[in-house]
Amino acid sequence: MLLLFSSGGGLLLAGCAAMPPRGEPPSAGGPPPGEGGPPPAPAGPKAPLPRETARVAKIPPAALPLPRYDKSGMRPVRVLLAGRRKDLSVEGEAVRAWNAAGNLVAEDGGAVTLSARGERIRWGGEKVFDSPLDIASPSGLQVGGKHLPGRVRVAAKQGQLHAVAFVPLEEYVAAVVSREASPSFHPEALSALAVAVRTYVLQAMEKPRHPAHDVESGVEDQVFEGTDNVPDVFRKAAEATRGEVLTFGGSLARTVYHSTCGGRTETAKDAWGTDVPYLRSLVCDDCLDSPVRKWQYRMTRKEGRRVALALGVRADEDLRLEIAGRSSTGRASRIRIASGGVSRETAAAAFRRAAGYAHVRSLKMEIVPVGNGWLFVGQGYGHGVGMCQWGANGMAKNGKGYREILARYYPGALLARGGP
Ligand SMILES: [Zn+2]
Repeated sequence: MLLLFSSGGGLLLAGCAAMPPRGEPPSAGGPPPGEGGPPPAPAGPKAPLPRETARVAKIPPAALPLPRYDKSGMRPVRVLLAGRRKDLSVEGEAVRAWNAAGNLVAEDGGAVTLSARGERIRWGGEKVFDSPLDIASPSGLQVGGKHLPGRVRVAAKQGQLHAVAFVPLEEYVAAVVSREASPSFHPEALSALAVAVRTYVLQAMEKPRHPAHDVESGVEDQVFEGTDNVPDVFRKAAEATRGEVLTFGGSLARTVYHSTCGGRTETAKDAWGTDVPYLRSLVCDDCLDSPVRKWQYRMTRKEGRRVALALGVRADEDLRLEIAGRSSTGRASRIRIASGGVSRETAAAAFRRAAGYAHVRSLKMEIVPVGNGWLFVGQGYGHGVGMCQWGANGMAKNGKGYREILARYYPGALLARGGP
């Protein structure tokens, strides 16, 4: 049951849902991006799902499971920028490095190249330091083409470097929204996305998948390409919803989203095998003007053989690709790969990943054999679970506010304001 009751002047959420651990890589998904694997996801209580506009509950910060850095504020988001690299170029006005004990050990102007030496880090040409190093520059750093406002921790493990940026929460939210959404989107749609992005990352920070970082910077989590060149429209969306998150059963909700559902969203159960009360399928006719409402992709036989090989089937010229099963919303769930006497069925999501998310844009599709290959004909872009971003934009253009948008795509979840 989900109850809203008043206590000590504030409103609290009461529920019995416990958030299960993050299992496989989740996917917030995004527009052109919008991919990633399965979110594990909360098996929340099966409460009747209210359909009204999401209400903002004023929740004492202590009642929300938000990660804290110290008493004064939220800890920064730890974003994995680069993993398993031999070298890394770090640029800044004055690039400084501190060791684990907090002592300043190096300073360089301009650019410095770091490289892994076993479990140690070579700084430029000569110096070698113990791992990890915390690196910062007064005016921010450029690391691998990304501008970062705060410090970056670089660690060496088995001859490879890993770089993790520490990014203030709201700067992270604005930067992700700027890469996951189109600048042409209505401000209310961008606000809805900002809440989803913030909730997603706070949940990741609550139970980090990795001891050294909370999220990755690609489509596995949410696309983050640094904090510069973030247009005002995106910063305003983060600012307008500052501190707001979606909760369910007293815990942060799993706010996955995608570009375009193509007419009907997918259930978390069908996409990832775990039922989530607020991630059910719904009819969405608001994404009609999405540029990827319909798509086609021509796959050559050669490419099909490469994809089959990536999935463990060494195929000949007689390769056949067929949809072998569909989810309750009509999306492909299994793909049969057959060649010679071998026939194998694979999860359609794995097939899509191997073929490339930008090619096979969704699983709401047909595979038509043509000439020397196949024509993939589909609708929508992304995994289809949770908020349809072009649908959110359609709703906003029709006068709906971000709370109504969130209430529609995450029915039963409540908007709450936490944080300092
Ligand atoms: Zn839609």
